[in-house]
Amino acid sequence: MNDATALYIHIPFCVRKCLYCAFTSTDDAPLATGEYVALLMREMELRAAALAAPLCATSLYLGGGTPSLLKPSLVGTIIDGAARLFSLDPSAEITLEANPGTVTASSLAGYRAAGVNRLSLGVQSFDDRMLARLGRVHTAREAREAFDLARRAGFDNIGIDLIHGLPGQDRDHWRDQVRAAIALFPDHVSAYGLTVEEGTPFASLEDEGALALPDEEDAAAMFEETAELLTTAGYGQYEIANFALPGRRSCHNQVYWRRGNYLGFGAGAHSFLREPHPGIRWRNPDDLGAYGSSLAEGLLPEVDRTCLAVGDAMAEWLFLGLRMLDGVEEEQFRAEFGRSLAEVYGTTIEGLCTAGLLLREVGVLRLTRRGVILSNRVFAAFL
Ligand code: SF4
Repeated sequence: MNDATALYIHIPFCVRKCLYCAFTSTDDAPLATGEYVALLMREMELRAAALAAPLCATSLYLGGGTPSLLKPSLVGTIIDGAARLFSLDPSAEITLEANPGTVTASSLAGYRAAGVNRLSLGVQSFDDRMLARLGRVHTAREAREAFDLARRAGFDNIGIDLIHGLPGQDRDHWRDQVRAAIALFPDHVSAYGLTVEEGTPFASLEDEGALALPDEEDAAAMFEETAELLTTAGYGQYEIANFALPGRRSCHNQVYWRRGNYLGFGAGAHSFLREPHPGIRWRNPDDLGAYGSSLAEGLLPEVDRTCLAVGDAMAEWLFLGLRMLDGVEEEQFRAEFGRSLAEVYGTTIEGLCTAGLLLREVGVLRLTRRGVILSNRVFAAFL
């Protein structure tokens, strides 16, 4: 049996494209969701048959796009398929990303009955003007209603996603968003800073000087205040942008940060396997037509299959692992790569410790508070 593996299912459909969105998703779907799920099942079957050894899947994550556009019966088909083809553990964390405005009491009850046990709610902001500016399809009231409906449908594990550093946002405004999230008492909060991605309407607005993003100092302050407010409210910061009540960390995302196996299905999904050492990765085409025509020919739709070089794998192990505030264990690095961290990165680590960005204690290396804020500088040092 191979190592434990996380399964990711990409659902590339949205009601409307948000103005900042660079994810693989379309609001002009050439396929019905049922047809797409049939393709997903075909891909899962082909992948299961192509694996050198059976897998034991420990988590399943339906992300997007907007997975809450799927009928519960289709979500059930995917979960049942994963259980049959990849021995999905009966106690596995099964997450569905849901957008407010696309769920009802009945669809949420259906997802729960189909086996979804964790909901990730894409709230992003509790301010209607800001939501409109982002091009989101929902209001703040709909976000609160969706949360409430999900609790009533039996979801005892709900995460809320927020974005900071939005156009026209100041620190007071951001604090209000975090407080509004805390008031709902979610189990998990993800708070990412806005990045303006090439090719999005936000990128064009930025080029025209019409985006009015907070300056670096304000953006850094918002990031710091997120941690202050959430930790005071009882949420542990376990990753740079992720906070959880005790026992509510995302199992699935921790697989990515710990460089575990994951298999991605659907248009634009990425996959990684640790074997052959030091790892291989591939991705599926973003284009739905290319994705579907490969499968119609009985071929796995993978592109860009890459066997990692040892040096790249070492750097990746380090900067993914350091995202977790528990840090990385030096012994695990040795077990994985047969060399010590000091031997490979001694001078870099020493420099970052002296600069107060890393802390080395009893065989564990982790970011300091300052290192969390300046994490990009830390990660760049290992590249
Ligand atoms: S809902 Fe998410 S995936 Fe869909 S357009 Fe908006 S940001 Fe992109």
